[in-house]
Amino acid sequence: MKKKLFLFDIDGVLAKVGLKPPLDYWKIAIQKHFEIETSISDIYNVGKTDKAILVEMLAVKGITNPNEEKLRKSLEDVGKLGAQYIEQHGATAIAGSGEFAAALKNNNYVGLLTGNCQERALAKIKKLGLLETFSPVIGAFGEEAEKRSDLVEIAMTDAEKKTSIVFAKSDVYIIGDTVRDVWCAKEACVKVIAVATGPESFEALEKEKSDFIFRDFNDISTMIEKVLK
Ligand SMILES: [Mg+2]
Repeated sequence: MKKKLFLFDIDGVLAKVGLKPPLDYWKIAIQKHFEIETSISDIYNVGKTDKAILVEMLAVKGITNPNEEKLRKSLEDVGKLGAQYIEQHGATAIAGSGEFAAALKNNNYVGLLTGNCQERALAKIKKLGLLETFSPVIGAFGEEAEKRSDLVEIAMTDAEKKTSIVFAKSDVYIIGDTVRDVWCAKEACVKVIAVATGPESFEALEKEKSDFIFRDFNDISTMIEKVLK
């Protein structure tokens, strides 16, 4: 049987969102490299890549064509600060999602497609005890594209390199918790499994017409049965 590739979002799918205490990594990085004051609260950041978040925060302050080198350094800092934060404060798992990934991995491939920079993404995966499930690390991360849907092609190329399998788009699934994950999958012509375990409601997700939609990861065997049917 043809193998499928399941690409997991992290925030709202594998890890609970809402940092305590809150830390505005983007603001700190922008302050250091662009020397201006910004705030994450100036924009709606849910479902966006770290690169898109920085670009939008800068645009709010009138910087519409940011210096690439400063942007790259800012992203590096967001990755580092994010990883340090997770080291210190940990990450909270969303019940069942790690088990869902492990179950899918039995006969298929799993990877990550996240707006988080790779360093902070992997710090979360490690803290959640999911490093083995997601090894080898396949996927695409928040410093690699501004537009979320551009991450799909990057993740598929990475998957091909690491598994020697050329996945058809019809065999690639995104598991996400926001309408932006659904849009991302549709734009990239891959499938999407929406799960309402993040900040956006089931009803909001339902309107976007995913291939599959679930309220949570509480009934993994039913999920597996439906998705792999
Ligand atoms: Mg998410």
